[in-house]
Amino acid sequence: MILTNILNLAKMICSEVLSEGSIAVDATAGNGYDALYLCNAVGAGGHVYAFDVQEQALAATAERLENEAEFANYTLVHDGHQNMSSHIRPEHKGHISVVMFNLGFLPGSDKSIVTRAETTIPAVKTSLELLACGGITAVAVYTGQDGGKEEEKEIRSFCAGLDYHKFKVLEAEIINKPGFPIKLFCMEKV
Ligand code: SAH
Repeated sequence: MILTNILNLAKMICSEVLSEGSIAVDATAGNGYDALYLCNAVGAGGHVYAFDVQEQALAATAERLENEAEFANYTLVHDGHQNMSSHIRPEHKGHISVVMFNLGFLPGSDKSIVTRAETTIPAVKTSLELLACGGITAVAVYTGQDGGKEEEKEIRSFCAGLDYHKFKVLEAEIINKPGFPIKLFCMEKV
């Protein structure tokens, strides 16, 4: 199945622009599933940066990558994604193919540590500067948790305001999913 969840759609879109040697960023490492996907997609010659503010998330990501990634082609960063620019090597700036944000809280962990629009929006803005032409920033937003609806509203409004001649923006949602909506925004740099 393709539409089992919205992250699958995000990965399908990202796969179109990732190839051996690509540089990618997982802006919210969480349990490391997206970082694992990115590491295997960019190959031995590529590189993946994965950010999280929680030690627990980085430990889970490190364990997953050590056990399951095909290559040791990643850097784990214990810092907020709003500071991503200061951790990306100068030669990778402007050459990043994909930045993935999977927002919300770490499943099975402290629900009070959650992404927030005030840091998410600056991080998304920075990601757009770091992208190569043709690169994609994909943002999955969960409206169920505390502050989630506001975060979605602000991201949508930021995305809708992007210059059409500089970025193409897709909004997607599985509209018959029970429970709270999950939105996907994909921004492609022209
Ligand atoms: N909601 C998703 C998982 C999200 S995990 C799901 O259900 O699958 C989101 C991760 O973002 C968490 O591990 C959290 O620690 C991290 N996070 C929160 N604020 C952050 C920030 N400013 N920078 C980087 N990571 C952040």
